[in-house]
Amino acid sequence: MTLPASAPTLADIRAARDAIGGLVLRTPSIVARELSALAGQDVLLKLETLQPIGAFKLRGAANAISRLSDKQKRHGIGCCSTGNHGRAIAYAAARAGIRATICLSALVPEAKVRAIRDLGAEVRRIGNSQDDAQAEIDRLARSDGLTDIPPFDHPHVIAGQGTIALELLEDRPDLAAIVVPLSGGGLISGIAIAAKALRPEIRIIGVSMENGAAMHESLAAGRPVEVTEVPSLADSLGGGIGLGNQWTFPICRALVDQTILVSEEEIYRGIQALMGDQKLVTEGAAAVGPAALIAGKLKLDGPSAMIISGHNVDPDQFLAIASGQPVKIGDQTIRG
Ligand SMILES: *Cc1c(COP(=O)(O)O)cnc(C)c1O
Repeated sequence: MTLPASAPTLADIRAARDAIGGLVLRTPSIVARELSALAGQDVLLKLETLQPIGAFKLRGAANAISRLSDKQKRHGIGCCSTGNHGRAIAYAAARAGIRATICLSALVPEAKVRAIRDLGAEVRRIGNSQDDAQAEIDRLARSDGLTDIPPFDHPHVIAGQGTIALELLEDRPDLAAIVVPLSGGGLISGIAIAAKALRPEIRIIGVSMENGAAMHESLAAGRPVEVTEVPSLADSLGGGIGLGNQWTFPICRALVDQTILVSEEEIYRGIQALMGDQKLVTEGAAAVGPAALIAGKLKLDGPSAMIISGHNVDPDQFLAIASGQPVKIGDQTIRG
């Protein structure tokens, strides 16, 4: 299977690394002792939780902003997002002196909304899905000339996320696999392009939650399909891939070796495992790799890395999970 002609290349991802260097942290990868013992291989954790906004999405946002024209910068930028992309756009725009408008669905947790406002962006809450929020952004693009920076399906965003793989392979050139939380697929697409260009035999594995795994369902169907959005501990993995998806669907189809689904109980245990192993505070989306390993759904046959993608979790929810108490998500009660 071939990539779209306009898909980013290794050279684009290297250029992105230079462009975002002032704003984005080069994060460490640390060995997780207990997860490594369980896997029988070194398991490295790539700590994107340490980024200034607490998630990797700053990489893609910073790269997209670096590529705007002066005219686009004057009219401002915007996006709709389940949270971390919005934070990233708000933070990177404020640093660049650009106005940012973020549209969010009503399902996005209040803590994330407040965090975006605190970063200096205007927030509008619209409807109950990513699609409703996107319609409002499209309207602002037509009426105000705002530039929409999408959360995943954009070559500059994909190239920014791909910088993670450059760092990982510097740290461990012999990696056999990279395990990546998977939603719209911007993160895994960038990582797959860079990693496979540098190390063709590497395996790229995506992990999503069972309820509403849009890319997994789309890959199975052979075309982008819609999924129902369901509240999840991995709220950052919610939302569709877009029926008009141009880049991440074909890139995932060509380069992702395997996708795995994990249940809410398994995600709960993944969060506990990262807390127990390395005392990490993580959100559910970041814990799906450990969750798959602990559940026996992921087999690793060489040193592997897991992208610990973010830590923007409601503190009460995290504390409940860390201390083994049940948590309510929508109308489900999750126990470890
Ligand atoms: C956005 C996000 C993901 C998934 O990234 P995609 O590019 O949409 O696949 C995973 N983890 C966190 C914390 C995120 O914010």
